[in-house]
Amino acid sequence: MKVHNFNAGPSVLPNEVLYKASKALIDFEGSGMSILEIGHRTELFMNVLDEARSLVKELMQLEDDFEVLYLHGGASTQFMQVPMNLLENGETAAYVDTGVWSYKAMKEAKSFGYVDAVASSRESNYNHIPKQFIIPPQAKFLHITTNNTIYGTQWQKMPVTDLPLVADMSSDILSRQLDFNKFALIYAGVQKNMGAAGTTMVAVRKSALGKVTRKIPTILDYRVHIENGSMYNTPPVFAIYISMLTLRWLKEQGGAAAMERLNEKKAGMLYSEIDNNPLFRGTVAKEDRSRMNVCFIMDKPELEEEFLKFCKKEDIVGIKGHRSVGGFRASLYNALPYESVEVMVEAMKYFSLKKA
Ligand SMILES: *Cc1c(COP(=O)(O)O)cnc(C)c1O
Repeated sequence: MKVHNFNAGPSVLPNEVLYKASKALIDFEGSGMSILEIGHRTELFMNVLDEARSLVKELMQLEDDFEVLYLHGGASTQFMQVPMNLLENGETAAYVDTGVWSYKAMKEAKSFGYVDAVASSRESNYNHIPKQFIIPPQAKFLHITTNNTIYGTQWQKMPVTDLPLVADMSSDILSRQLDFNKFALIYAGVQKNMGAAGTTMVAVRKSALGKVTRKIPTILDYRVHIENGSMYNTPPVFAIYISMLTLRWLKEQGGAAAMERLNEKKAGMLYSEIDNNPLFRGTVAKEDRSRMNVCFIMDKPELEEEFLKFCKKEDIVGIKGHRSVGGFRASLYNALPYESVEVMVEAMKYFSLKKA
């Protein structure tokens, strides 16, 4: 039995995926070669890439205008690549600042145009999602971070706007049902909900591209990657393979609808313990609580070290909170089994009785 892995990312993957990948590392599909040894333009790998891209489209139910790319450079590269491709010099983009990742995205956009931070919860250490804000109608797009991995907040309702909507969904992609067609561009580092570190998924509407006059370096131009079937240069072969296997698993489980039910159950159980256990307390506005990253602290901070040690003994790992929030953060991504949350809740109950 593996440990109960609550890591924030890279994070837990389905056992089936790891097992299949371990075999592919030695002999991929009976080719006599490892997945790491085959050419990226071979049929063997092309099939993997095609399947991964079409599974994304299918699971997100994307319209035909969308193209799915698997790129290098992490979500952090998208902070720069998005405005480079979508924002003309001298034009404005609107951003909602809901955490360090949004903030970093805004910072990068400033190199390409004007940034209008239409709302921010920075002053309150990002403990809620701003609700009242005015979106400038002349802005080229509105950027949001759908789930704030570090603070444990999540947009429950998407903002209503006529502007093209751009979202960093790194930490909640395919964890719930959403009308993904409401967006013009969605990006996600795949290492949280749909694979291993090393590649970033970008789903972009073709109709949103080609509207800026600046010269875009070839490797950063989405249109080049689209024309080349996400194979302009050597793609991150192994990371894409893991993502494909994870998406297959996701589909077998019942897709985003099934994940939403499971994730609601997991998060509901943990939040209910946090609210009912006198030792623990949530850190963010209840209505904005994330179903992916559950952040909480103890009323007696001097007990936190001891609780961490106790959890470690119970094979619960990865729950130390981010340094900017402190306390604990339990990440409940798609692949985290329900049983792991049960073990976590039992540990909280037991620890609390011991301290009573
Ligand atoms: C993890 C994370 C990132 C950073 O992703 P990298 O792939 O490390 O660049 C960006 N945004 C969000 C919401 C994240 O959770």
